[in-house]
Formats: sequence, structure tokens, C-alpha cells
Amino acid sequence: MNTDIKTPTFTKYFTLAFLLLFIFGGAQKKFTIVLDAGHGGSDHGSNRSYPDIGYIAEKDITLSVTLKVGRMLEKDKDFKVIYTRKTDVYPSLTERTDLANRSKADLFVSIHVNANTKTSPYGTETYLLGVAQNNTNLNVAKAENEVIYLDAQDRQRFASYDPTSPESLIALKLQQARYREASTILAGFIEDQFANKDKRLSRGVKQENFHVLRMNAMPSVLVEMGFISNYDEAHYLASEIGQNEISESIYNGIMSYKKAYDRRGGSVAATPAPEKPAEQPLKNDFRILLMSSPSKYNSGDPALKGLNYVLPIKEGNLYKYYYANTNLASVRDNNLKTAKDAGFKNAVPIGFVPNQKLGSGYYTIEVAATKDKLSSNSYAVQTLKDKLIREKVNGVFYYTYGNAKSLEEAIDLQKDLDKKGIQNTVIQKVVK
Ligand SMILES: [Zn+2]
Repeated sequence: MNTDIKTPTFTKYFTLAFLLLFIFGGAQKKFTIVLDAGHGGSDHGSNRSYPDIGYIAEKDITLSVTLKVGRMLEKDKDFKVIYTRKTDVYPSLTERTDLANRSKADLFVSIHVNANTKTSPYGTETYLLGVAQNNTNLNVAKAENEVIYLDAQDRQRFASYDPTSPESLIALKLQQARYREASTILAGFIEDQFANKDKRLSRGVKQENFHVLRMNAMPSVLVEMGFISNYDEAHYLASEIGQNEISESIYNGIMSYKKAYDRRGGSVAATPAPEKPAEQPLKNDFRILLMSSPSKYNSGDPALKGLNYVLPIKEGNLYKYYYANTNLASVRDNNLKTAKDAGFKNAVPIGFVPNQKLGSGYYTIEVAATKDKLSSNSYAVQTLKDKLIREKVNGVFYYTYGNAKSLEEAIDLQKDLDKKGIQNTVIQKVVK
């Protein structure tokens, strides 16, 4: 190489050329934003009825505002807009997150409406994922994380997670450190718009542990556009004028963020962390085996040391107690740590091939194991009738129901029984 290349002039041109190349190269890629209209379908979110305007539900307001924001963004060729829903349906939290991660989105904006048991609170809040600074936000997170709306996959992925355990908090902090600054910047822009453009009360940028933000591998915020529980704000949220103002504010906030993003050459974080690919799911599901015991413990039993989502599976004479289920290595390791911290020092992760059918043998549901025969008036006998199979072994009556080839099928069978009011059953693996 010629030593001339070290002259300042050449370096200057070289840098300029490189920059131009970078800018043109960079301009090819669209800025992808995922807009997530909160709730939907049978999940109405918060809702109220007012004498003058009737019933209003969060799911309708979030959809309407989301579509308005999307339409504005779509006019800009630099943006690619992805919606988690465009109609009145309910995508699970897993679907929303997977969609965002799969599309390698640059931004995730989840749009919601707030509610309070009192009618006085009003104003806007924009959340990023994090640890609550105080307990006042907890109710918002509780409502938005409402477990009854989690589907089976969501439960595995999110609900086995105890957000109050110290290790979860540490993991959460590490996970979010990368997107924290960018998320804060976006949240600030949106709240500024609400306060300055719309003259609304901004209750500020806050942090909470929302399921829908937790697994996202991109800057993400959750906007609470106002309180449906407050008379004036409910009317504003339900009105065309209100929804137009709100969507413009969110749109302006996103545009300000995009400008900041472009100014910093595609990174809003001050010190970009090294590229880390999104975690790939494992082939197997992993449950944490807590213990094997001849005794049967129902959920809530002190023997389970406060852990929820424990699945007992009976094999032979032993009940094996499995905690949580995931196909992500990081979550599995976290679950194992939670189990050990709870006092199960010998806990180990066990791999399960999803939907694996047993070659020989089958799964059934043990409804009861009792020294005395169940009365013919008992609820289980009345409900399941001749589908309930009785067997006497060593002076104990075992009552079982159903036949499933895979564990997943057995879990569904057990859920059906649960819905019928037959609880505390155990999945039994019968090896022939
Ligand atoms: Zn909501």
C-alpha cells in the first residue's frame, strides 16, 4: 500500500465515501415497526358503560387508534408496518412476541387503555419493560398481564415465571439493558406529545414487568392512552377527535424517535451492544423435576414450597413433580434456579419431546386413589359414569379416566376434567 493513504485529505475522502456507501446501503432497509393493538376477541380489556355513550371496551379503542397510527406511518416509504391484529381477534402474547422477533422489527409499540377502581385518576402513561419503582404501577401490570387470557403456550412461557424472585429481576435487568435507553427515548417522545400537543396530563414514563414486552428483542413500549374509568377521558378515548389526537401523538413520537435513530446511524443506544442473535427455541421442551415421592401433593401444598405450575406425573408407585415448561434454554436455566432457590436442591431439567406418542403404554388420568370405594353419589362417579375405571391394588381403589398417547393430550384431558370441576387429578404414565 502506498504511504499516501495516510494523508489527512485521503482519509477525509475515504471516510466520506465510506459514509455515503453506508447511508445508501442503509437506506435499502426499511424501518420495521410492530403495532400491537392491546387485547381483542373475547379479551375486551378494561371496559365501562356510560348512560350517554353505552358500552365501550379497550379492545375497540386500541384497534381504532392502532390502525390510525399505522395508516400515517404507511404513507412514509421508509417504514414497514406490521400489525399483531387488524380486526377483532385475540393473538396470544406468544404470537405477538414471536411476530415481532421473527420480523426483526426495529420497534414494538403496544397500545392500551388504563382503568382504575376509582373514577378520579386520569392521564397518560408510557411504559417500558423494567422493574417497578414502586407498587402503584403494579395494578396496571396485573390487569395487562391477566393470566386468564394467556393461552396454553403463553402459560408455559410466561406464567411459570415469578416476577418477584430476585433472580428473575436480575435476568430481566440484563435482558433489557440493551434496549432500555432506546425504549426510554421513544416513551419520552410520546409522553411529550400527549402533554404538549394535546395538553393532557402526562403521568410520565414508567417501568413495569409486562408479559407482552418481556421477550421482545427490540426497543418496546406500552402506551396507556388514558383511563376508561374516568368519565371525561372515557368520552375522549371513544371519540373520533380524541382518537385522532392520540394517534397523531403516537405517530409524532415514533417519527421523532426515527429521526434520532437516523442521526445516530441506525442506533439509538449510546453504546450499542454487540449483535446477539435472538435465542432459538430448543428441539425439546424442558420441565424441572423437583422430586419423586410416593405421596400425592395438590397444588398449594407446603411440600411444593410455594412453586406454582407444578405438574405431577405418576409413574409406577411414584409421583414425579415437574415444575414449569419451556423450550428456551435461558428460561429453563432460570426455572431451574428458581426451583433450587425454593429448596429443591436436587432439581434437574428433564427434556420432553413435544407431542411424542408412547410406543407402548399410554397416559391416563388418576382421578382418585382411596382406601374406601367412592360412593355412587360422588361427583366424579356421577359426572364420568362408566368412563371412570376402578381398579383395586393392595387394598387401595384407583380411579382412572381416559387414554392418551402423548403427554400433551393427557394435559388436555386433565384440563377438560378441571373444567368439569374434577380437580387435583394426576396424569399417570402406564408403561406396558
Ligand atoms: Zn390493556
